[in-house]
Amino acid sequence: MANQASVLSESQTADAMLRARARRVVPGGMWGHLNAARLPEGYPQFFASADGCRVRDVDGREYIDFMCSWGPVLLGHRHAEVEAAARAQADRGDCMNGPGEVMVELAEDFVAMLPHADWAMFQKNGADATTSCVTVARAGTGRRKVLVARGSYHGALPWCSPSVAGITAEDRAHLLHFEYNDVAILRAAAAEAGSDLAATLVTAFRHDMGRDLELPTKEFAAAARQACDDAGAALIIDEVRAGLRLDIAGSWEALGVRPDLCAWSKAIANGHALAAVTGNDRFREAATKVFVTGSFWCGAVAMAAARATLRIARETAVPTKLHTMGLRLREGVATLARQHGIAIRQSGPPQMPLILFDADPEFRKGRAFCSAALRHGAFFHPQHNMFLSAAHGPADIDAAPEAASYGFAAVAALKAGDGP
Ligand code: PMP
Repeated sequence: MANQASVLSESQTADAMLRARARRVVPGGMWGHLNAARLPEGYPQFFASADGCRVRDVDGREYIDFMCSWGPVLLGHRHAEVEAAARAQADRGDCMNGPGEVMVELAEDFVAMLPHADWAMFQKNGADATTSCVTVARAGTGRRKVLVARGSYHGALPWCSPSVAGITAEDRAHLLHFEYNDVAILRAAAAEAGSDLAATLVTAFRHDMGRDLELPTKEFAAAARQACDDAGAALIIDEVRAGLRLDIAGSWEALGVRPDLCAWSKAIANGHALAAVTGNDRFREAATKVFVTGSFWCGAVAMAAARATLRIARETAVPTKLHTMGLRLREGVATLARQHGIAIRQSGPPQMPLILFDADPEFRKGRAFCSAALRHGAFFHPQHNMFLSAAHGPADIDAAPEAASYGFAAVAALKAGDGP
């Protein structure tokens, strides 16, 4: 499975040449988390094509993709039925003077799919949706304070960006923090907000970068709901990352807790740009009052892709399939780690795996592991949760531990002091 193009010297690769050109015309060569300089050695910056569960970089190296475009690809890259639906809509119109019929149909699909939802509205990015949820909650309650878990990611806008560059304290005024899964701290934060509490914003599970993933406890979910009910505030679940992978009806449905408002994006249109806010009748009027819009928010092609994605996800029980494949991957990786005598931790829902190494505070082992696995055809991530798609079949999953085996050998070499 070794990739032939890796024999090219670094500066001769198409990727290196594109990086050099990009550095001249794109600040830093690439923005944000997609700057491959943040990834382990050898990771490509540029991709040429993708198909099913495989991506190909601009040097022709092919990888089994365990990032799925950082979440959007749920059914596999360029899924035939989704793309056919998108093309059929594109032939009729995409960016028109207003929405197409497909917007109403898609809103009906969301309302039918989600027990908590009485309405839906559409946008483009996850941060559009999380921001709108907060705005609607404030408009509906007439209050200001929002409780947010420390370390949770809700987007890259000034109120929620993990960076401080270019951001003022005023941008984050009225945010109060709690610890995910800590009922006492959540209650204390709600008490501090008092009668000014507009909303509690929580991710579907704890997926902060670089630490073990944590599913919400039943007690925490119930306490979040209760704190909002006691104060007359909105419970907002940020489903942007987990949505459709854990439970089609909503990630907290199994916990018996329903949100008032929910933010969706990433997987809902299988790679087409779309976000959604869903809400209940309590917040319908507030959602009518706030002024939210965007030039491309009515794009009919992404909505047609979303209709096909939701239908296929429902009809083929995608979360169950991903769970089965995720467990298979987890077991394969665990067996190999044991054989190599290396202590790892695999956490979170199997559909969105994360592999962390014990005693690896700077992710040196994780990066060595990923670089070696990449050379043998598996695209992993050392710190961020990964993503499975419905295109990952047993053969693809079983090929991953083979690549991981080279990764563990690289980590063992580090242990012996031979590594970078
Ligand atoms: N919320 C969560 C939980 C996310 O994971 C992300 C994106 N990683 C966002 C919000 C923001 O989404 P976007 O990048 O599409 O704005």
